[in-house]
Amino acid sequence: MNRIAVLTSGGDAPGMNAAIRAVVRTAVGYGWQAFGVLQGYKGLIEGSFRHLGPRDVSGIVQLGGTMLGSARCPEFQEEHARERAIHALKEQKIDALVVIGGNGSQSGAAALNAQGFPVVGIASTIDNDLVGTEICIGVDTALNVALEAIDRLKTTAKSHHRAFLVEVMGRECGYLALMSAIAGGAEAAVIPESPTHPDQVAEVIRQAYKRGKTHAVIVVAEGAEYNAQRIQAHFAGHYHEMGFEIRTTILGHVQRGGAPGAYDRILATRLAAAATEQLHQGNHGVLLGLQQGAYVPTAYEQVAGKIKSPDPALFHLANVLAQ
Ligand code: ADP
Repeated sequence: MNRIAVLTSGGDAPGMNAAIRAVVRTAVGYGWQAFGVLQGYKGLIEGSFRHLGPRDVSGIVQLGGTMLGSARCPEFQEEHARERAIHALKEQKIDALVVIGGNGSQSGAAALNAQGFPVVGIASTIDNDLVGTEICIGVDTALNVALEAIDRLKTTAKSHHRAFLVEVMGRECGYLALMSAIAGGAEAAVIPESPTHPDQVAEVIRQAYKRGKTHAVIVVAEGAEYNAQRIQAHFAGHYHEMGFEIRTTILGHVQRGGAPGAYDRILATRLAAAATEQLHQGNHGVLLGLQQGAYVPTAYEQVAGKIKSPDPALFHLANVLAQ
């Protein structure tokens, strides 16, 4: 092993820069040369490489986003596009690739590895939907952003006797919504894994009003069958029956932006160091994740194309706590 490349792909997550920095500096520590690929798989196909020395990754550990840029590249799902990527990697004499990204990105990484180019992955997505890790880079920071918003909305909701539908990100996975609901003390969580009809949400709001609550917060996952806008549309004409006035806030990309917190900086750094170490040991075709306090590899066959769901016990707990 002499030369490795690193890229960030899919949705950005706070902590990706800390991971890039740790990959580069760990690689240099092994005596290798490191290269960054610009704009994810799109840049890989186009051969957009940039040499990265230790000084090129200075001052980024605290920055959100990704210094390498990220992109969606539907073309990468085609075998011939991945062949072009392998050709570009070989032209640069790159021996292995580190992919920092979420579910789709790791499926792409698995496909590239299966086509014969050595790849290791680092679990990085605020959706927390990857098999092989309990938590992904960016989740903790995104959760704290959602919580700050919920806490702020609660104070205004209380003053006006309102109910807020707060929509959080997470794509097909309800983890971020569920944890935001538990930590934010919400009255209910609406998540894709446990379909909830707007009539049930209306009932929760009515009951909260009847029990004398001064406000209600319902956290809705963007991927739920009824997202916040659809629930609000369903409520139209029935507001007077619910007690509270209803307002909707969609947090959107604000959750992905900003500086990573301490937890994400350390998680990113340790996963990146562990991923580079895998290459040093001659292993590849694995995703690095956190399991029971250890930074461990999971074979791509067990990761690619799968979506992890939050523990149903957490959904039950959220409902118990909302009484
Ligand atoms: P994330 O990695 O955050 O989940 P996406 O799902 O958009 O984001 O995936 C990022 C990129 O990964 C896609 O634009 C595509 O280039 C690649 N990708 C996604 N799914 C696959 C797949 N099944 N096979 C190959 N490449 C994929």
